[in-house]
Amino acid sequence: MITCNVMEYSVGEVIGGVWFVDLKVGGEEEYTGIYVLSDGREALLIDVGPSSTGEKVLGALKDIGIPFDSVRYLLLTHVHLDHGGACGGLIRFFPKATVIVHRRGAFHLVNPDAVLWKSSIKVLGSVAEIYGKPEPVPEERIVSIEDTFYLSLGNLDFEILPTPGHASHHVSIYCRNYRVLFPGDSAGVYVPSLDAMLPNTPPPFKLDKALRSIDAMIALNPEVIAYTHFGVSREGLYNLSRCRRQLTAWYELIKEMKVRGIGKEEEEEMLGAIAQSDEDLKRFIAKSERLKGLQRGLRTSLRGLIQLVEDAQ
Ligand SMILES: [Zn+2]
Repeated sequence: MITCNVMEYSVGEVIGGVWFVDLKVGGEEEYTGIYVLSDGREALLIDVGPSSTGEKVLGALKDIGIPFDSVRYLLLTHVHLDHGGACGGLIRFFPKATVIVHRRGAFHLVNPDAVLWKSSIKVLGSVAEIYGKPEPVPEERIVSIEDTFYLSLGNLDFEILPTPGHASHHVSIYCRNYRVLFPGDSAGVYVPSLDAMLPNTPPPFKLDKALRSIDAMIALNPEVIAYTHFGVSREGLYNLSRCRRQLTAWYELIKEMKVRGIGKEEEEEMLGAIAQSDEDLKRFIAKSERLKGLQRGLRTSLRGLIQLVEDAQ
């Protein structure tokens, strides 16, 4: 077990050969991390974090003892700034690495100024500045995928499956050897200290696709889920079905509230009403004073579900 804690980030080996790097983005706790996997010879990263914390990723690799020229793949679950933002800045340090991303995300990596940066500012506001503006990724360093894709790194076998809903180009990564699933943002937010699940549904969120994606992940029968937000849970299947139930329940509750005239101006009232039947949200509201990043994210997710309900009317 390697554990290295410094002020700016921390690294922990969560399974043999799998490390979680807590990037402490914006100084936040239980907020955002990435995973590093090694077969002993070569390594890959699952997500790379935002542009503003690229240096921390390099520091973490040095701490673990992974030479930069042994990094073979940067697997991106999607290109949102907190998952793929550092890709363009990092790739030049990894001469043998290929970026693997869904076809619909590749354009945004190559041309972050065209749409990605502007739409991030629109959806996230000042949080986009905390994440930092992404540098472009050279097109020739990208392999874009469309359907389920199989990848090996030494003796490690990966299945990369499309899991749209949170984003149309979202993929999740399953490592068969460890029965560990890396769902990116497609299976909710998990807050380990509160054992609470929260929706991860910023606009434009697609519920029907998200539920199908969760079903596809349940079918993999994972034992462990390795969340970007945040860390590892060994209650894999339980958490996936919890996330599924929560999404459906929140959607129905928001729909009912809209009928009763409670609209998007009353976010706090809506959250309070949902918390009456959602124990996870109730715990989060009561005990999340220090988790400012997740609080902001929760409101963005609520807006995504409200928009979904409004679009369906
Ligand atoms: Zn995302």
